[in-house]
Amino acid sequence: MDFFKNLKDIYKKVSEVENTIYSGKQDYLEIYERNLQLEKEIEERTRELNIANKRMLTLQHIWDMMNASRPLQSVLETIVNSIQGELGYLHCNIIKKCEDENGVYLTVLAQSNDTSIKRVDKLIKGPIQTRKLVYNDNSIYAKTAKSKQIELTLDIGGTLKSVIPEIPDDVLKEVVDGSPSKAIINIPLFARGTHFGWFNVFSSRKELTAGETDFLNMFAQQIEMAITIAGLFEEVKAQAVTDGLTGLYNRRYFEEYLKKEVTRALRQKQPFSIIGLDLDHLKQINDKFGHAYGDLAIKTVAEVLKRNARSIDTAARMGGEEFNVILPGVDSKGAMIAAERIRKALESEKLDTIKRITASIGVATFLEHSDNIEDILELTDQAMYQSKRNGRNRVTLAKPISETSWQEIAINTFMDILNKHNKQIGNEISENIKSKLQTEVPKEALYTVADMLTQTYNPLHQNGVVKSKVLLAVSLAKRFDLPKDEIDKLKIAILLYDIGNLMLPQELLQKTTPLTDAERQQIKEHPLIAAREILKPISAVQDIIPIIEHHHENWDGSGYPSQIAREEIPMTSQIILIVDAYYALIEPRTYRAELTPKQAVEVIKQDAGKKWNSALVQEFVTIIDIDA
Ligand code: GH3
Ligand code: MG
Repeated sequence: MDFFKNLKDIYKKVSEVENTIYSGKQDYLEIYERNLQLEKEIEERTRELNIANKRMLTLQHIWDMMNASRPLQSVLETIVNSIQGELGYLHCNIIKKCEDENGVYLTVLAQSNDTSIKRVDKLIKGPIQTRKLVYNDNSIYAKTAKSKQIELTLDIGGTLKSVIPEIPDDVLKEVVDGSPSKAIINIPLFARGTHFGWFNVFSSRKELTAGETDFLNMFAQQIEMAITIAGLFEEVKAQAVTDGLTGLYNRRYFEEYLKKEVTRALRQKQPFSIIGLDLDHLKQINDKFGHAYGDLAIKTVAEVLKRNARSIDTAARMGGEEFNVILPGVDSKGAMIAAERIRKALESEKLDTIKRITASIGVATFLEHSDNIEDILELTDQAMYQSKRNGRNRVTLAKPISETSWQEIAINTFMDILNKHNKQIGNEISENIKSKLQTEVPKEALYTVADMLTQTYNPLHQNGVVKSKVLLAVSLAKRFDLPKDEIDKLKIAILLYDIGNLMLPQELLQKTTPLTDAERQQIKEHPLIAAREILKPISAVQDIIPIIEHHHENWDGSGYPSQIAREEIPMTSQIILIVDAYYALIEPRTYRAELTPKQAVEVIKQDAGKKWNSALVQEFVTIIDIDA
């Protein structure tokens, strides 16, 4: 009996256990299912978090970049690239609304650099970013500008057609059919209360969720902020009158102030002086001690200028290591004393590591040296160069232009050209020539320098030829009784008439095969144009420019560039033409050997009455005969 009872009990227990197991299993299944759901939810949340995080990071990135005050264009480019690349859109751009006399038009201000845009650019034969796009009153652009709301359009073709109406239908079809984009999301942009443009996002999805709308609006706000900040920054920069490094006035302010000072000086018939100062050997300081010490040198000059200027004097940093001081009401005598005081004060400054710095100074006085302010600035500069040439750390007073010798004008012109065009000349040669001009006796250096410069574009040019040309030209000029100032101009013109060759490509000048017509034309005309360009900013040689410009006109009017004839051609230009031709003939060329002087004279005689005035040829022949 017990056995059965026991068995029953066991059954019961087993069934109980079974029950528990079963209900446990139920529980377990439930838990398992709940877990699955939870996991799914977690996954979903994680995905959202990841997206949110990415958006945050992108925003953070944009924010950092905006604070680095980079130019607007580059900030916007980074923004569109981040949005496109990191958030998985196909393309992004920022369109600017522009206006000219023909009305409103659109331009692409920034666009993401992706394959889809490259494909479109290729199909429409040229980058869309450089096009002037059409603003159409029926386009999505007009619609969102008015509603100020984000908008999605599935009409990609229509949108493209609205901005490029001339696009052929087959091209438009190819653009649309081949594109993975399904929609354009367009958001109007406003900055400081006015409509600036639009932010476009090309999406592979046809709908716009609430979340997406929120964060695209957020990005639009970032873009608006970047635009606003850039605008403010530009305004502040345009209003700045001081230089960041030194706190002195900047060039812009100096020029404004100078205009007022000129008016005042003319009205009150009172002079004012300009002290021009250039730090000596700053490049060496930079090279030897580093840029920070170069900056220290510049700041020290500024301190010395501030300390030594009267309250009405205006000191400005013109750029780099160049400073100007305006001294109202001060004549050249007073300005020389002030300049010398500045020079001494600078020289006795004791600087960290660099120890000592010096400067070269030039002084010129308005109404004393000239009543033309352009001339005064140039004279100040020339006087400063003179200080450099005479050994630096000194003050030089300008000379009135009329008293400046032709050699000085030529040297100053060369210095000017070397400083402005050292790229074409080559840095090393340029430095070499400059140091020659600054250390040697000016008169001796002049011809050497002209020879060196000529050799940079004509390697066959021989030393001494420039001097011979000048002597020959002067002999001719004297035979025709040219006045001294004309002869002086002629001498300078001889040194400079081919300077435009500096601007010609080396390959062309050294070509050994015959030139094409186009190349011949370039060689013919370009040097004249270039010479004019190079010399135009140098006021001391303004009356040399016409002489140079006409030195290829022929007596019979068959020359260039103006095809003037006979007495219309300046005598000095005629002299240059014949001297130049003679030396070209007796010099070797890559394409022919040199002629003897006798042969050259024969060639020249043949063109008497055609290329040159017969009277000029006659005199020329007698001079060469005497020499030969
Ligand atoms: P010189 O005595 O003939 O005037 O010689 P230099 O070396 O002073 O003149 P150069 O014109 O050959 O070189 C000027 C150098 O000044 C080159 C440029 O890099 C440097 N420089 C210009 N502006 C600054 C600046 O703001 N800071 C520093 N550290 N260097 C500058
Ligand atoms: Mg310097």
